[in-house]
Amino acid sequence: PVVLSVRDVAKTYEVKDRASLFKKNRVQAVRGVSFEVRRGESLGLIGESGCGKSTLSRLLSSLEPPDRGAIEVNGVDVATLHGDALLSMRRRFQLLLQDPYNSIPSHVSIGTTIAEPLRIHRLASGNGLRERVCAVMQEVGLSPDLYDALPVGLSAGQRQRVNIARAMVLEPSVLILDETLSALDQVEQAKLLDLFDNLQRKHGITYLYISHDLAMVRRACARIAVMYLGKIVEIGDNETIFDEP
Ligand code: ADP
Ligand code: ADP
Repeated sequence: PVVLSVRDVAKTYEVKDRASLFKKNRVQAVRGVSFEVRRGESLGLIGESGCGKSTLSRLLSSLEPPDRGAIEVNGVDVATLHGDALLSMRRRFQLLLQDPYNSIPSHVSIGTTIAEPLRIHRLASGNGLRERVCAVMQEVGLSPDLYDALPVGLSAGQRQRVNIARAMVLEPSVLILDETLSALDQVEQAKLLDLFDNLQRKHGITYLYISHDLAMVRRACARIAVMYLGKIVEIGDNETIFDEP
């Protein structure tokens, strides 16, 4: 079944002209993009810097609305969702970014940070909350002994595990990985790719791997979309995309 269906989505930004106080330039960041993602699939989205990958990831995680086109999740147009329905859709789509050092508060315990989305969504409290957080910590390879510890001294890879745990407590069905592994060394990358594999097998999670790192995407994704100047110019099997002359 199709989890995510994107039809002719576009986004333009107005930016101040550097030379003139009154003139504005339009940047067409995403210019009519369509694709589908099936449940449990890993789709790679590659393309050079500035081609619109991050803009697309923000549209998909409903952080910004598209100017035109439709994003359907399990057959429901996201634009028609409001209130609780919108909130629960957002919960199903978790975005993981690159910066493991900026995204985690340094003065808050690791367990509290991971528990925060559960509190915000009022999904658990008290002992239930602590149990849920410890189970997820275990699952992503963080010792539950770290629950009351501060993140000081955690490696970049461990910090990214904290971010992954913070997403996983919400039981997402889709993880959008926007350069999530790009700041990590090869060894950490390989470990986290294994973790994503395990989460996929266990929970049927669907992945969108957005990256400029072709080798990593080649390793992780069965299907690849190539973006260029705001459009998907090619989409197909891993072998078809990478074995071309
Ligand atoms: P990357 O290619 O790593 O995504 P960018 O410089 O394109 O880096 O974008 C970094 C962030 O800055 C993006 O999240 C985007 O929202 C913002 N951004 C990018 N370009 C502009 C711009 N011209 N004006 C305002 N914000 C921008
Ligand atoms: P990528 O992630 O592939 O590097 P982006 O989506 O960050 O590409 O950027 C695509 C284009 O849109 C770039 O020209 C960028 O400068 C512009 N852009 C992105 N975000 C913003 C923003 N918030 N305001 C203005 N321009 C933006």
